[in-house]
Amino acid sequence: MTPQNVTVLGATGSIGTSTLDVIARHPERFQVFALSAHSQVEALGRLCQRFRPRYAVISEPSRLSELRDALAGTGTEALSGEQGLCEVAASSEVDMVMAAIVGAAGLVPTLSAIEQGKKVLLANKEALVMSGGLFMEAVTRYGATLLPIDSEHNAIFQCLPQSHPVAMGDAGVTRILLTASGGPFRNASREELAQVRPDQACAHPNWSMGRKISVDSATLMNKGLELIEACWLFQTTPEHIEVHVHPESIIHSMVEYRDGSVLAQLGSPDMRTPIANALGWPERIDAGVASLDLFELASFHFEKPDLERFPSLRLAAEAFRAGGTAPAVLNAANEVAVQAFLEERIAFTRIAGVVEETLAHITPVPVDSIEVVMTQDERAREYAAQCIESRPVMQRE
Ligand code: NAD
Ligand code: MG
Repeated sequence: MTPQNVTVLGATGSIGTSTLDVIARHPERFQVFALSAHSQVEALGRLCQRFRPRYAVISEPSRLSELRDALAGTGTEALSGEQGLCEVAASSEVDMVMAAIVGAAGLVPTLSAIEQGKKVLLANKEALVMSGGLFMEAVTRYGATLLPIDSEHNAIFQCLPQSHPVAMGDAGVTRILLTASGGPFRNASREELAQVRPDQACAHPNWSMGRKISVDSATLMNKGLELIEACWLFQTTPEHIEVHVHPESIIHSMVEYRDGSVLAQLGSPDMRTPIANALGWPERIDAGVASLDLFELASFHFEKPDLERFPSLRLAAEAFRAGGTAPAVLNAANEVAVQAFLEERIAFTRIAGVVEETLAHITPVPVDSIEVVMTQDERAREYAAQCIESRPVMQRE
């Protein structure tokens, strides 16, 4: 078997590290072609020492000479910036691209891989949320294979017929039951939510993840982004998706068919399972994940999400219904607000307010090009920053 060449965008992150863990278990199947990081030169250098890729990309251009020094003697060539990311995503030698950059920064490199018809493993949900129909049209037009890494979407994918891509209606699916952990503040009161600190928001009870997605998970914006992601991936609407808070995070989502059957995918909360599923697809490969012990778990719980305490989920559904660039605006405002919360410039409960005000201010326009998406993303970032500045630092609500 000739090993497949894999580019890992966002290699130093939580998903990137788990991806490399799975890849390292299968040297006969996978070979690392390129790795990227934003600014962590040392961490990227260490990964290059271990995986010996052809290229390493540092997206922050000012760190290129440092990266060159760190790579001395490894044989790995250093590249930088968005152009470097696009080159290693689109290279004719690449078979598979793991899109694991966080946020809007991942959109252009992910699209470059799609436009070359690659097998794209999508963790970077923000890219799909922002560009929606344009992204999915490119997948079809260029014959790319898009495999979801988000545990919920990978679960849904596994519960659907294994043709690719699959539309829910054609497959006899009536509903998607999208599970959510509820995050670390599931039972917190409004007053308690207003006081939470970044480190508390980033201490997820079940999953170990990057800081941005951890905050999204705590506000339920992550579930909102996932609702939009599911609508695009499985060609459906929010009316056909029901969110279930399932605090154990063992059932990763479910699919209901018209005959009443409900199929679920279960597993330990370990991202190496969906990553291995996508890397090996359509074959099953070892992920290094411990067996599930249902006797130990004993019971599962389900609750409805509380949209009063967690308005972000409602805002995401509204943005999807508003259509056009509204989801891109939602995403951009959320990125700015989450960053401000992480820097302790706004309260946790202000995040959704910033998103709501930005959505109300910017009228959506049709997504007919990436330039339109980028322009609206920029406008939303500016407006969200103004909303944040217009209120005093850490004002408690
Ligand atoms: P992370 O913060 O741990 O890692 C992010 C990676 O992206 C790092 O390698 C970082 O260097 C790189 N990066 C950050 N900013 C960048 C920029 N401006 N330009 C280029 N590269 C940049 O994040 P993560 O938890 O690994 O999440 C990555 C993506 O996967 C996110 O979109 C997240 O929503 C999604 N995801 C993560 C998990 C999880 O369990 N961590 C689960 C599902 C989906
Ligand atoms: Mg998820």
